[in-house]
Amino acid sequence: MRLFQSARFKLTAWYLLMIMTISLAFSAILYYRIDAELNRGLQMHSIRMLPPEQLQLYEQQFKVDENGRILEFRQQPVAGIPVQADLMVLQEVKRRVLWLLLLVNLVILWLSAGAGYFLAGKTLSPIEKMVDDQKRFIADASHELRTPLTALRSEIEVALREPKLGGKEAKELLQSNLEEVDKMQSLTNYLLAMSKYENDQVKLPVEKVNLAEAARRAMERVKHQAAAKKVTLVDELQEVETEANGAAMVELITILADNAVKYSHEAGEVVVRVFKKKKTAIIEVQDQGIGIKASDVPYIFNRFYRADSSRSKKQIEGYGLGLSIAKSIVHMHGGSIHVESEVGKGSLFRVKL
Ligand code: ADP
Repeated sequence: MRLFQSARFKLTAWYLLMIMTISLAFSAILYYRIDAELNRGLQMHSIRMLPPEQLQLYEQQFKVDENGRILEFRQQPVAGIPVQADLMVLQEVKRRVLWLLLLVNLVILWLSAGAGYFLAGKTLSPIEKMVDDQKRFIADASHELRTPLTALRSEIEVALREPKLGGKEAKELLQSNLEEVDKMQSLTNYLLAMSKYENDQVKLPVEKVNLAEAARRAMERVKHQAAAKKVTLVDELQEVETEANGAAMVELITILADNAVKYSHEAGEVVVRVFKKKKTAIIEVQDQGIGIKASDVPYIFNRFYRADSSRSKKQIEGYGLGLSIAKSIVHMHGGSIHVESEVGKGSLFRVKL
């Protein structure tokens, strides 16, 4: 993506600016110190070499700045006093040091450009992935919303073209409209749940929750769907308490129980279990429904993923968001969720908290 490429270059430039400022400042200080030390060394050496009677000549030999650094050679050399050649050696050494420092800085520039570009890529890649996911999510969500909206629109248009719309037809139309509105409402509910449970910024309040109680409330919520399919709901609940968010636990078990009913055969059985094993609280939801193909299992917790079997069966409504929300809730509580399933035999979802 162009945006990320340019952000990567900018970030690299900032890294470089920072490193080179430090490196150049360090080199300047180093050069200044070396220069001062060389000058001082040469000066000391010269003075040490002077016979005492010539010591006063020292002042005349060199032009010295306020720090005692030799600025220039003044008169004809006197024995023991550094001659022009010594000063030339000094200049040469300084020039070499300067070149060496320049070279070192060039190498640092070259290395840090490479490392900076690599690190900028590393820093930006999770953000890039997040933006990609977000884009895909918006596209998928709008697509899912468009389907019931299109149906709603075409039904209304057809009805409006009808010159004599009877009371019975109008009622049927409204009934059908209501179904589409229900679909949209359920999708927006899912989306709201997602923004609630998938938001790292929000910390949901945690309290002591009785999981058996949460399971009972969840089963209460799905009992109408179960009754409509003549599915028997069985509870095997131990009173297990755990630190969690109560509403999230009810939501989690509702999602699993709702799926179990949805993907059950007519007159099947769904068992919800809550128990404790060692120190782990375990929630299980088991059905004898259509099961999940092994090849689908790795993907069913992804947003908007629906196995072909559930897509093709028109009567099974859904958006492929439930399990993704369930996974978020479980991870938010530091737990894990797994599924064991066999096509045609049923599925067992197990949550460990
Ligand atoms: P939805 O049920 O709305 O499609 P979910 O995220 O809840 O979305 O589930 C994703 C997919 O996982 C479903 O489309 C279905 O194919 C599969 N699935 C989930 N639960 C079960 C189950 N109990 N039995 C069989 N398949 C299931």
